[in-house]
Amino acid sequence: MPAQLIDGKKLAEKLQAEIASEVAALQKAKGFSPGLAVVLVGDNEASKVYVRNKEAACKKAGMYAEQINLPASTSQAELLSLIERLNQSFKIHGILVQLPLPKQIDSQKILEAIDPKKDADGFHPVNMGNLLIGKPAVIPCTPLGVMKMIESIGYALDGKDAIVVGRSNIVGKPVALLLMQRNATVTIAHSKTRDLPEKVRRADIVIAAIGQPNFIKGDWIKEGAIVIDVGMNRLPTGKLCGDVEFGEASKRAAFITPVPGGVGPMTITMLLWNTLRAAKGTAPQRGH
Ligand code: NDP
Repeated sequence: MPAQLIDGKKLAEKLQAEIASEVAALQKAKGFSPGLAVVLVGDNEASKVYVRNKEAACKKAGMYAEQINLPASTSQAELLSLIERLNQSFKIHGILVQLPLPKQIDSQKILEAIDPKKDADGFHPVNMGNLLIGKPAVIPCTPLGVMKMIESIGYALDGKDAIVVGRSNIVGKPVALLLMQRNATVTIAHSKTRDLPEKVRRADIVIAAIGQPNFIKGDWIKEGAIVIDVGMNRLPTGKLCGDVEFGEASKRAAFITPVPGGVGPMTITMLLWNTLRAAKGTAPQRGH
């Protein structure tokens, strides 16, 4: 039987509607809306699109959004002083600095300057560290979106074998920690992993976050597995595709996420979620 789709677009719409009603209730009860500041330095075309989409989603949910565009020549000191202003601003509850930043700026220094409570992306070492030791933390958006997708199909992770392919700080590592918190037995694979197909074949749940089109072959997927494809790759034809060979994998998996329309829309939704939680003073979450 072909896999059932986990429709990220539909789930994102449902969650965004819930967020919008929470925003309206907060506005009514407390007289303010959650505010997100999105900072873009330079004119990277892809970053401009991401930033525009994030701002639009925020506004649609009734949130306050402040987009700050700075020239590519901005110095680290200038950006740090902007972050300080946003840290102090009572209108802003979430701060997102769009990566990558120009070469003259140390991205890690910038991420560390954001008040951990306003860290909408969950990349601050305090939040990363709290996630690692199982304390309440702001969870990075894509990993949080992945967990919401698994939750949406009512899949119990206890005792299941999961493989996370990719070990980046923003996707692979936090996803692995979240799965482990939910009692899955987690393998983390990367470019030096040996016998990857065999390891994927043993997994009840596969999270692909590599950045290579159709890298994970359909016949590596165990019958009945859950496949979450985080990868977002542009083919020479201009078409977007994931890291998993979707057609073949769909013949074996029980559930699979499409690309586009899978994890992508969930990432933006979780940004709104983190900002709303910060505004309500309930940002830290344990697990998801
Ligand atoms: P990174 O480039 O930071 O990390 C890629 C990871 O994949 C690394 O750990 C790397 O291993 C591993 N890898 C690369 N080649 C192989 C291989 N042949 N076999 C096994 N592992 C391999 O990427 P990100 O984590 O930032 O992003 C991953 C993908 O997810 C990208 O396509 C990105 O566009 C997408 N993405 C999508 C989002 C969404 O909202 N849908 C959000 C964020 C990312 P090593 O560490 O050894 O180099």
